[in-house]
Amino acid sequence: CPHLTKLLVVVTASGGGLIAYSEGKPLVTRAAYADAGNEERKKKVVVLGTGWAGTSFLKSLKDPNYEIQVVSPRNYFAFTPLLPSVTCGSVEARSVVEPIRNIVKKKKYDAEFREAECYKIDTQNKKVICKPGQANSLGKSEEFTVDYDYLVIAMGARSNTFNTPGVVEHAHFLKEVEDAQRIRRSVIDCFERANLPSISEEERKRILHFVIVGGGPTGVEFAAELHDFVNKDLTRLYPALKKYVRITLLEAGDHILNMFDKRITEFAEEKFQRDGINLKTGSMVVKVSDKEIFTKARGAASPEATPYGMVVWSTGIGTRPVIMDFMKQIGQINRRVLATDEWLRVEGCDGVYALGDCATINQRRVMEDIDDIFGKADKNKGGHLSAADFNEVINDICERYPQVEIYLKRKQLKNFIQLLKTSAEDDELDIEKFKKALSEVDSQMKNLPATAQVAAQQGAYLADCFNRMEICERDPEGPMRFRGSGRHRFHPFRYKHLGQFAPLGGEQTAAQLPGDWVSIGYSTQWLWYSVYVSKLVSWRTRMLVIGDWSRRFIFGRDSSRI
Ligand code: FAD
Repeated sequence: CPHLTKLLVVVTASGGGLIAYSEGKPLVTRAAYADAGNEERKKKVVVLGTGWAGTSFLKSLKDPNYEIQVVSPRNYFAFTPLLPSVTCGSVEARSVVEPIRNIVKKKKYDAEFREAECYKIDTQNKKVICKPGQANSLGKSEEFTVDYDYLVIAMGARSNTFNTPGVVEHAHFLKEVEDAQRIRRSVIDCFERANLPSISEEERKRILHFVIVGGGPTGVEFAAELHDFVNKDLTRLYPALKKYVRITLLEAGDHILNMFDKRITEFAEEKFQRDGINLKTGSMVVKVSDKEIFTKARGAASPEATPYGMVVWSTGIGTRPVIMDFMKQIGQINRRVLATDEWLRVEGCDGVYALGDCATINQRRVMEDIDDIFGKADKNKGGHLSAADFNEVINDICERYPQVEIYLKRKQLKNFIQLLKTSAEDDELDIEKFKKALSEVDSQMKNLPATAQVAAQQGAYLADCFNRMEICERDPEGPMRFRGSGRHRFHPFRYKHLGQFAPLGGEQTAAQLPGDWVSIGYSTQWLWYSVYVSKLVSWRTRMLVIGDWSRRFIFGRDSSRI
């Protein structure tokens, strides 16, 4: 029968709405398939972590045909950009968190949350082994396993101490909500202790010396918050102590905020100097004891000891032990974070994705892939490409590797174009010279930054892929495969940089917006308020944060030690 011979049926067993197609048109719906007595199993997706990446994934996932299990030691999402404000009571801790159950209960898919820590990933048997979080733990016997079809690893990172002795024992970190609460209590503690009559002058000076290690955005923001808290609120309440208070910011590099535009760095350094924040650059912390911090200036023979009352350590992020263990297991040795491809898949592990601070897109393959692109574009052109071919190649590379595009758009573009121009002959480009130039770009290309922006965009991207899994199975939309045939199912992940803020205290903020547009001052602080409110995860937290800010404007920060 001609109709029958034309009938091409594709039956898929994965979780979408339609399960059979004839020449691209639906033949049987998933419901009809299930009604006919065919048992159909929903794909199990296990999400590890309820931070920026995990939550963004859960918020953006729409397909009801997945069974979701979320495992995380915290049963809430925390809006980390406002944590420095929590340390000084500008915003309350509960205002920046949203219970994860609130987030998933509004979704169409079935979701279960387990407050637990994953401590082993078994990719061979497709399961993760978990134990209850510290608060619920009654012993090892409570371990449990969770099976998965797809695993989304979004476990973030931990604070990095660079194995500096004494840091874990004596310094505060600023990574979690609990850290921010501890810092808040500790600041007030220092003031109350210094106010005791039995304390000597020398001891009072020590107790009221606050040291911040790390001149990145978090360290700088905390220093600015602390300065405001001390100067606007605490010195009003403890006027006799004002003359003893000192804030020191230590940075091993030459400048603070070195990932920002030079204008922002200069403005921040000058502002801190005016505010009386003691900024020490080129100063490496080598040890922390209970009362002294030991720093070594560049070129100095021996470390210098400085008495302190409180140290906050904010020098970047390190790998969680469970991730380290997993990397060893899958042969990713000597790496800081998990390597994925541009589709966020962990290389060599079926159905495993990694996103956020615990992962990075593997850059080592860039040059290999570029070789392949050239191989295909070059064909028999004897090593020379026309400008049109060249454009196509550049587009292809940029489609695969957003970092190349980001790099090309930055200032170095001028030098790069110059290099290309010198290698061009009569509207043609010498491939070898171009590849050499590109390899320079490659060696300078940085991994995507470990920020909430990257994590959230990756979570949303992956959820979108999961939502369209079947459609894209049928009609792949990604670029051609370099190795193998056909197209990739999805477009690779592309990061869109939306800009970055650096609050500097005194109602002033610096912002570096796309296109290297820089804005600094009081009006930027209002931009900061509006952007952060809009980015908060729910209307509940928005109302709470606006309430906290209004309270602070009217009554100041609360200095009770509770
Ligand atoms: P996280 O958000 O850290 O989430 C990790 C999740 O994994 C958590 O829920 C954790 O409980 C869970 N987890 C941990 N261990 C396990 C385990 N064993 N099993 C299961 N789950 C586990 N970025 C910006 O873009 N802008 C900012 O202004 C900004 N400000 C910041 C301020 C501070 C104080 C801090 C600390 C960070 C800031 N960041 C900012 C960075 C941003 O918070 C991180 O890049 C982002 O949180 C990374 O998201 P993630 O989902 O990878 O990790």
